Amino acid sequence: MNKDLDIKFIKGIGPKRSQSLNSIGITNFEELIEYFPRRYLDRRTIVPLDRLSADKEVTVVGKIEAAGIKRLRKRIFYLVISDGKGLLEAVWFNFTDQYKKVFKIGEWVALSGKVSYYRGYQLTHPDFDRLGDGDLNKMLNTGKILPLYKISDSLKNHGFNSYVFRKIFQEIINNHLENFEEILPKEIREKYSFLNRKESYKNIHFPENTDSLDKCINRFKYEEFFYLQLILAIQSYHFKEKEKGIGFSKPSKKLELLFNNLQFQLTDAQKRVVKEIRKDMKNPHPMNRLLQGDVGSGKTLVAVMAMLIALDNGYQSAIMVPTEILAEQHYYNINNLLKDLDVKISLLTGSSPKQAREILQNDLNKKEPHIIIGTHALFQAGIDYAHLGLIIIDEQHRFGVMQRAALQEKGIKADLLLMTATPIPRSLALTVYGNLDVSILDELPPGRQSIKTIWRFDNKSKEIYKFIIENIDTGAQVFIVFPLVEESEKIDLKAATESFEKLSSTYFKNKSIALLHGRMGSEEKDAIMKKFSNGEIDVLVSTTVIEVGVDIPNATIILIEHAERFGLTQLHQLRGRVGRGSKKSYCILKTPHNIGENAIQRMKIMSETNDGFRIAEEDLKIRGWGDFFGIKQSGIPEFKLANPIRDQKILQQARTDAFNLVNSDPSFNMPEHETLKNIIISKYADKIKLMNIS
Ligand code: ADP
Ligand code: MG
Repeated sequence: MNKDLDIKFIKGIGPKRSQSLNSIGITNFEELIEYFPRRYLDRRTIVPLDRLSADKEVTVVGKIEAAGIKRLRKRIFYLVISDGKGLLEAVWFNFTDQYKKVFKIGEWVALSGKVSYYRGYQLTHPDFDRLGDGDLNKMLNTGKILPLYKISDSLKNHGFNSYVFRKIFQEIINNHLENFEEILPKEIREKYSFLNRKESYKNIHFPENTDSLDKCINRFKYEEFFYLQLILAIQSYHFKEKEKGIGFSKPSKKLELLFNNLQFQLTDAQKRVVKEIRKDMKNPHPMNRLLQGDVGSGKTLVAVMAMLIALDNGYQSAIMVPTEILAEQHYYNINNLLKDLDVKISLLTGSSPKQAREILQNDLNKKEPHIIIGTHALFQAGIDYAHLGLIIIDEQHRFGVMQRAALQEKGIKADLLLMTATPIPRSLALTVYGNLDVSILDELPPGRQSIKTIWRFDNKSKEIYKFIIENIDTGAQVFIVFPLVEESEKIDLKAATESFEKLSSTYFKNKSIALLHGRMGSEEKDAIMKKFSNGEIDVLVSTTVIEVGVDIPNATIILIEHAERFGLTQLHQLRGRVGRGSKKSYCILKTPHNIGENAIQRMKIMSETNDGFRIAEEDLKIRGWGDFFGIKQSGIPEFKLANPIRDQKILQQARTDAFNLVNSDPSFNMPEHETLKNIIISKYADKIKLMNIS
């Protein structure tokens, strides 16, 4: 293949069409041939025109018998197609003059839409795709499978349709694929009896039958996973074998002291995880570990223990959290936990004054053991960490890849511990965090009451508030949460403030009630949180600033207003703010009567289960995996065909093969791996850096 051939020179494209291909990201030969069909038509997916029934979603194909504009009450564009078995009319109320040119009598089209009945079967505003001339019926009847391509508006305007794409691909396959090189090593191709690359391209655009189609689709899915896993394997290899980190070899006296002075027993899960971390830290290669644990599973304590190990080996540790409130709370709690151990602890957030930063810098320069707690300001404030041994990122899913990247550059040899309460199904963690070791806290401290979750409509407000007041009277504290999103921040804030005012002058007029939101200064927020923490406030009305990490055992009710506006993971996080003590806790989800299908689904799942893993899985199903992981900003490549949820088996195979390959030939020196090496370097080099820390 002449890879460098400009696509505009391919027959059927030319300069104008080439530009419009550029606009959807197809700039070279390879991207073009990998513009895979969006779906396929065959006899099983096409409904014959004598088998139609109303209200069904269908795809039909037929030859255009008539087309034009007619006038009923309004001007409409109509099309009559036939497939030899029946006739069907399609109509468009909105159309452009282009339509007259687009549909040519005698050509075949595929139409998709919902069938209605109006003096005969009809499709209104169907999706359409031109299929060209020739007897399509005959083709389909001989078992042909017809590819349909995604045609964006811009492509449509430049005369693209599936017919045109088929012609282009025919041309490429006939005349441009001769010297086409294979990428996948022979042993892998043989292991799975994959078609070779050239045959695979041919088959995916012009499938011979469904079997061969499935087989070549699997090959391409495998390839997509394989490259990603190779990158992860390379990173993992270099991390473990090459990079020199710190070996924290001294046993930690302080860790032992803390352990002996604790008011409670560590859970078995905590013991296991601390052991795993200890082993990692002792090892002279840098630790790169993800700690997953549901809300309330006691991650903070594990983090503190890791920091004590670093401390007793003479190093500084930093823990980064997503919000100032959380940083302050960690600062408070960790000080409390370590009060007898003579540990230097500092707090650094965006609102720390310049002077405080200078003092901190001076202290850091002494290279003495030190714990620094803060927000992303930790790594933005121009502070130098010359003696950092351990970096911990709490609620790591809240940070973008770039923030994590900035951080790792500060202490490149430091051990890294990522913590998250958003559990990821294990198999999926392999795609996204395939280069990390994973620890799981799968046990809550004993004595926790499970949280009862109740879903109520707005018209039950009165009963809800009554219930809350009764509980306050027996000593409970309550969160009332309002949604706040960036796009509608002003309106949301107003709604929260107004409700707060109303509540404080009506239902909660005799209670101590306060408002907390992200727009307040951090001193004010801090003061309110402290008061709530000390039990001086009964009801804390807030926007989602309390979402992560806040730990107040006496708070036993959380009422979430407009719960339909929150995602599942977020709801679960919010619910985790209660149920932290030994008293029975409640989570009340309040919504209007009329909410969407997905929202109903979310409320039901929340009411059904407290299991964070189950919730994450459901969330994945509802949102799809790209959205769930924030793929776009994460630096993880998007897949064209592969789907890490559906194609887990292929993912596993690709992973095993990739790691084996890297272990046996880490530098890709074997001639068999030469092409692979070039592909990785040319396509993925920029990703490797980002993925290091994702
Ligand atoms: P998360 O994993 O959500 O960050 P935290 O670290 O905030 O959870 O812990 C939640 C609460 O559980 C804290 O009050 C903490 O002191 C307490 N806790 C942690 N470990 C244990 C344990 N082994 N037994 C009892 N309580 C514990
Ligand atoms: Mg936490």
